[in-house]
Amino acid sequence: MRIVVTGGAGFIGSHLVDRLVEEGHEVVVVDNLSSGRREFVNKAAELYIRDLKESDWGVGIRGDVVFHFAANPEVRLSTTEPVVHFNENVLATFNVLEWARQTGVKSVIFASSSTVYGDAEVIPTPEEAPYKPISVYGAAKAAGEVMCATYARLYGVKCLAIRYANIIGPRLRHGVIYDFIMKLKRNPNVLEVLGDGTQRKSYLYIKDAIDATILAWKKFEEIKEPFLALNVGNLDAIKVLDIAQIVAEVLGLRPEIKLVPTTPDGRGWPGDVKYMTLSITKLMKMTGWRPTMTSGEAVRKTAEDLAKELWQ
Ligand code: NAD
Repeated sequence: MRIVVTGGAGFIGSHLVDRLVEEGHEVVVVDNLSSGRREFVNKAAELYIRDLKESDWGVGIRGDVVFHFAANPEVRLSTTEPVVHFNENVLATFNVLEWARQTGVKSVIFASSSTVYGDAEVIPTPEEAPYKPISVYGAAKAAGEVMCATYARLYGVKCLAIRYANIIGPRLRHGVIYDFIMKLKRNPNVLEVLGDGTQRKSYLYIKDAIDATILAWKKFEEIKEPFLALNVGNLDAIKVLDIAQIVAEVLGLRPEIKLVPTTPDGRGWPGDVKYMTLSITKLMKMTGWRPTMTSGEAVRKTAEDLAKELWQ
């Protein structure tokens, strides 16, 4: 099968491309290398350096399926730079759907996010929970999902929206573990933790996430439903203070941990969801998949992976 992966030079996208190549697919990567790296792109994949914000980004590119994984994933930036997030995450998704419709793509697999639920009332949060984003990033993902679902019903371009929890592992270049390592590189004696330290979220290791993504996609191709939203996350969660502890331990440091209050209710920043664990019952029933590492194990393994990549 010929598969287009947008954002295939980024963290999740590049691991996905490796797996698709391994499975014998013909893979086309589309990426503007804004946060992705050329060296992360599998040599067997064809790389097009294009910007999805341009409506003609897809000229000369064809595929049976598109995994739309390009985005600006910096949730915090979406609070201060909402226009960037509208363009990178709403306009770009619309341009991908238009290209899919015009070129006869069979299905779109859209990298959505747990942030569409905002401060969910039910935890672990099931897919039936309402869209209630509290960040522009989450709103952009919800908008992308609604657009995908509409294209599925109206034009027959099937869409699977995968709502990822925090996905972590080698090649990660954003998020709390990466930030802690970079802060400790600058000052090994003090580690600033944004918020009150009690924020508790679910983390899934990249290999587990890719296994789940591939299994969910294959099942989705067998069913008739034009649109499906599926959570991909872990069964448990971990507190940000415990992440700080693990990262320091892995690096062999004993920094003073300094809490930096940023909002009255102890969030990391305005728009940060404080508690997040997704219900993965639907995914497990549908595919038989289960996570092989807990959130804590995934954090430790990622800290070790990133220490090798960044700590010299
Ligand atoms: P990433 O930043 O590593 O990858 C994003 C890729 O998209 C990069 O290679 C970047 O260069 C590319 N890109 C960005 N804007 C582009 C544009 N306009 N045109 C072409 N390419 C562009 O991020 P990631 O963590 O790998 O995230 C992948 C996807 O998964 C994103 O859609 C993200 O929102 C979603 N997601 C990630 C997580 C997570 O924990 N990592 C959680 C939920 C959802």
